[in-house]
Amino acid sequence: MSHTRQQLSETDYDVLVIGGGLIGASFACAMSTQGLRIGVLEAVSPGSASQPSFDDRSIALSLGSKRIFEAINIWPSLEDYATSINKIHVSDRGRFGVTRLDSLEQGVEALGYVVMSRDMGRALGERMSTLDNVDLISPSSVIGVDMPEKTAGDRVGITINHQGIKQKLSARLLIAADGRDSFVRQSLGIKTTDWDYQQTAVIANITSQYPHHHVAYERFTDSGPIAVLPISAGRCAIVWTCANNEVEAIMALDDDAFISAFQQKFGQRLGRFLKVGVRQAYPLRLVHAREQVRPRLALIGNAAHSLHPIAGQGFNLGLRDVATLAEIISTAQAQKRDIGDLAVLNDYAKWRKRDHLRVVAFTDGLVRTFSNNFLPLAIARNAGLIASDLIPPVKRLLSRQAMGLTGKLPRLARGLGL
Ligand SMILES: Cc1cc2nc3c(=O)[nH]c(=O)nc-3n(C[C@H](O)[C@H](O)[C@H](O)COP(=O)(O)OP(=O)(O)OC[C@H]3O[C@@H](n4cnc5c(N)ncnc54)[C@H](O)[C@@H]3O)c2cc1C
Repeated sequence: MSHTRQQLSETDYDVLVIGGGLIGASFACAMSTQGLRIGVLEAVSPGSASQPSFDDRSIALSLGSKRIFEAINIWPSLEDYATSINKIHVSDRGRFGVTRLDSLEQGVEALGYVVMSRDMGRALGERMSTLDNVDLISPSSVIGVDMPEKTAGDRVGITINHQGIKQKLSARLLIAADGRDSFVRQSLGIKTTDWDYQQTAVIANITSQYPHHHVAYERFTDSGPIAVLPISAGRCAIVWTCANNEVEAIMALDDDAFISAFQQKFGQRLGRFLKVGVRQAYPLRLVHAREQVRPRLALIGNAAHSLHPIAGQGFNLGLRDVATLAEIISTAQAQKRDIGDLAVLNDYAKWRKRDHLRVVAFTDGLVRTFSNNFLPLAIARNAGLIASDLIPPVKRLLSRQAMGLTGKLPRLARGLGL
C-alpha cells in the first residue's frame, strides 16, 4: 500500500524501515510473508526521476542475489531486463597478466546478471504496492529518532516530516536502510570507519563495434579501475573510476572525445566504441559502521557499509543483510521472542560480521593494490593475476566470491523460503 495522504492513520508498527531504496524495499518484500505490520519511510516520491537509489546505474547482481530475488518472488518481473554475465575478464592495463572466470568452468548457468537499478526499483515498488502488510509512507523524511530509553522500552520512536507535517511513529524494531550518509546512524552517534578514495566513478552506457558475448571486463589502470558490463545487445554499461581532480574535465568532454579517452583506457577488446549515453558521477568513499545493532535497531545495506564499486559487491552484500535479518526475525517470531531484543539482533550482527569484513577488505584491498604504481607491487599483482588464472582452487574461490556464494548463506540465498 502507498500512503501519500497527509495525515497518517496508523502510527504504531512492528517494523519501521527507514529508506525505501534498493535495500529497504527488498527487505520489505522479503518480510511480506511474516504477518508483521511494516512501514517503509522514503524521502523521495515513488516513481520520481530523482529517486537516488533507482537511477541509471547498472548493478551486477551475483548469482546468490538472483537466488534471493527468486525466493522472494521479485525475479519473474526482473528477468526480462537482466543480461547474464557468462565470463569475467580481469586485466591490468600495460601488463599481460589476466584472470578469466567462466560460468561453464564453474558449472553454473551464469556468474551473475546485470540489471539497471531503475528496473529493480520499479519491480520492488510494484511488489510493495500489492502487499497488505506493508505501508510505503512517501515522501516522508525521518528527522528524529528516540531510542527505547526515551520511550516505553518496548518501542522505538521516530519523528517524520510527512509532506510538511511533523508526525510521530513507533515500532518494535527500526531498520536503518537510509544509505551511506544514514541520518539514523548519524543521529544516534554510531561511529564509522571512513576512507575517502579521492576517486569518482563516472557511469554511462556505450555502444560497441563487436558484441559483448556476455563478458564483463574489469580493467585496472593507473588512474583507477574501469568496468564494462554487458547490457542489451551491442551495448555495455561502463564504470570509469578516475581521480577526483580529473573528473570535471572528463565530464566536460564532448561525446567523441569521451569515447576516444575511454577507448584508450580500455583497449580494443570490443572493437571501436561508437556511441555513448548520458554520464553521471559518484564520488567514492568507504564507510563501515562500527555498530550494526542496538536494542530495537539494525543497520542494513549502505547504511551499514558503503563500498568502492570496483568489484560490484555493495548491493549484493546488502541483499545478504536483508536475507539474513529476515531469517533471524522469522526465527525469533516462531520462537515467540521479541524481534527488537538485543540478543536477537546480536545473532544478526554476529552472522554478518565475517561477510562484511571479508568483502570490505577484499574490495578495499583491490583498490589499494591496483592503484599503486610501485614496480615490485605491480609485478606481484601481475603474477597474482596469472596465478589466479592458472590455479583452479584459487579460480574457484574467486568465482564463488563473485557469485556471492561464500560463507554461511541464509536460507533465501540457498533458494529456500524463510
Ligand atoms: C557507480 C556505482 C556502481 C555500482 N555497481 C554495483 C554493482 O555492480 N553491484 C553491486 O552489488 N553494487 C553496486 N553498487 C552499490 C549499490 O548501488 C549500493 O550498494 C546500493 O544502491 C545501496 O542501496 P541502499 O538502499 O542501501 O542505499 P541507497 O541506494 O543510498 O538508498 C537509500 C534510500 O534511503 C532514502 N533516505 C535517505 N535518508 C532518508 C531519511 N532521512 N528519511 C527517509 N528516507 C531516506 C533515500 O531517498 C534512498 O531512497 C554501485 C554503486 C555505484 C555508486
